[in-house]
Amino acid sequence: MRYRPEVTSMLLVGCPRCLIYVMLSKVEPKCPQCKSTVLLDFLDEETAKWAST
Ligand SMILES: [Zn+2]
Repeated sequence: MRYRPEVTSMLLVGCPRCLIYVMLSKVEPKCPQCKSTVLLDFLDEETAKWAST
């Protein structure tokens, strides 16, 4: 297994304060601009599963 977890476990989230989308590591989801941890999940795998059922 050669994959690097820090690269593969990325998450696309939206910051409600900055109104931007950012790619973040799941380990430390934090807005790079305002440092807020209150973020909206977008392409989360679990969310996608729930939405499709
Ligand atoms: Zn922000």
